[in-house]
Amino acid sequence: MTSILNADLHCHSVVSDGTLTPEALAARARANGVELWSLTDHDEIGGQQRALAAAQAEGMKYLTGTEISVSFAGHTVHIVGLGFDADNDDLKRGLARTRGGRGERAMEMSDGLAKVGIQGAYEGALKFVGNPELISRTHFARFLVESGVCKDTNEVFRKFLTEGKPGFVPHRWASLRDAITWITGAGGVAVIAHPARYGFTPNEEYALFTEFKAHGGQGVEVVTGSHSAQEAVTYGGLAREFGLAASRGSDFHSPDESRIDLGTLPNLSGDLTPVWELLADRLQ
Ligand code: AMP
Ligand code: MN
Ligand code: MN
Ligand code: MN
Repeated sequence: MTSILNADLHCHSVVSDGTLTPEALAARARANGVELWSLTDHDEIGGQQRALAAAQAEGMKYLTGTEISVSFAGHTVHIVGLGFDADNDDLKRGLARTRGGRGERAMEMSDGLAKVGIQGAYEGALKFVGNPELISRTHFARFLVESGVCKDTNEVFRKFLTEGKPGFVPHRWASLRDAITWITGAGGVAVIAHPARYGFTPNEEYALFTEFKAHGGQGVEVVTGSHSAQEAVTYGGLAREFGLAASRGSDFHSPDESRIDLGTLPNLSGDLTPVWELLADRLQ
């Protein structure tokens, strides 16, 4: 398969912090010309059967997907898994464990917001949650926009939900090694999500790529909704340097919030190995 396939291998449904159902996402992807799709909910694969059925009904090829939250060098890093067996017990247990701390974290976030005069944020965020195990910062952001505290979710993150801000609670996610092992142990390919987003120093980034590779990681997102054209060039270069396949995904969450729609990204540069070439026998 070629690098110019319209593949979108990163997005979120109501099963994590998106606002559309798996079926609505599939229809939207198809309408935008997507040929190969993956739903990659955070720390959760509960939407996979619906996504697969919807993809097949729309005439798209499908790869199973998830986006695992990882703690690395004091930062949160996201690792996308593609093409795994969604019935694998170690993967299911690992994801359940990763989801496990979210409820308590959310209550602490709410306490932090209460201290700066924002009452009822936990209950407010819960109204936006499709999956109670997956309460996330995104749901708090939607509540603060709805209640008029901020004009959009970006402003909420900047003022309230990032490191050092009142609603931020440091959290210990999965280890890099565990996340990669769960994915590869289930027959899938592990991919570093949106690498430009982490704010790493060059040394930290080098360590991430080196350890990722050492643990069996095989891909990196080069073209994503959160990369500029220049960043796509930069990470295409790192993909080549580290011998990683390249992935392409919008990271679409919502028609009202996402800048980049499903399936509307630039193509991968033709000299990169598309991650779907490694997954030819996992396409459904
Ligand atoms: P959590 O897993 O609860 O820490 O939430 C992380 C999610 O918050 C990400 O997957 C994004 O959907 C969202 N997010 C993070 N940073 C921002 C931002 N600056 N603006 C909007 N959404 C963000
Ligand atoms: Mn998200
Ligand atoms: Mn992410
Ligand atoms: Mn994502």
